[in-house]
Amino acid sequence: IPQLSTGDMLREAVAAETEVGKKAKAVMDAGQLVSDEIVNAIVSERLDADDCKNGFILDGYPRTLEQADALEKMLSEKGIGLDVVIELKVDDEALVERISGRYTCANCGEGYQDSFKKPEEEGKCDRCGGTDFKRRPDDNPDTLRTRLMAYYKETSPLLGYYFAKDSLKSIDGMGDIAEISGSISSILESA
Ligand code: AMP
Repeated sequence: IPQLSTGDMLREAVAAETEVGKKAKAVMDAGQLVSDEIVNAIVSERLDADDCKNGFILDGYPRTLEQADALEKMLSEKGIGLDVVIELKVDDEALVERISGRYTCANCGEGYQDSFKKPEEEGKCDRCGGTDFKRRPDDNPDTLRTRLMAYYKETSPLLGYYFAKDSLKSIDGMGDIAEISGSISSILESA
């Protein structure tokens, strides 16, 4: 099933210089949230694609209570159920360290991290052999602080929202990559 990241979709729109991309660019560079209207429309359209027929993972969406309400409405209109909402609990300090050191292969998108996940052969992607890597412009200390503030002000209330709906599963995100993947897989298997 596809992983639908609103951040990835917005970055694609920025790169393609679409109308949405033009509106979103400055907001994203500043680390603030793009408007609910734009993000809800992108997700709703994406969910109609053929590859979502057997399910999908939403990554980075919903991020506000308004988006959560819009998602509920859109899923009910499309006749789709929401199986589970997974919270990855990570200390702020660890989060800043992880994000500040992350980068991806420019060719295939495989993710790496300066301390925790380096390519086996330096400068060469493990997955595709690519030698070009990129870092997100918003993964810098100043923008990160704004993004963290947006999380506390606008996104963290969703924990209560999904707890009250009995959909929330929280897992310890402080382990290593294999442990956390294992926890996510077992939640999905029993969902
Ligand atoms: P991400 O890749 O999830 O870290 O998102 C990168 C940036 O895209 C965020 O800092 C926001 O500016 C924007 N963005 C991504 N998803 C959303 C969303 N659900 N609502 C509002 N803005 C979003």
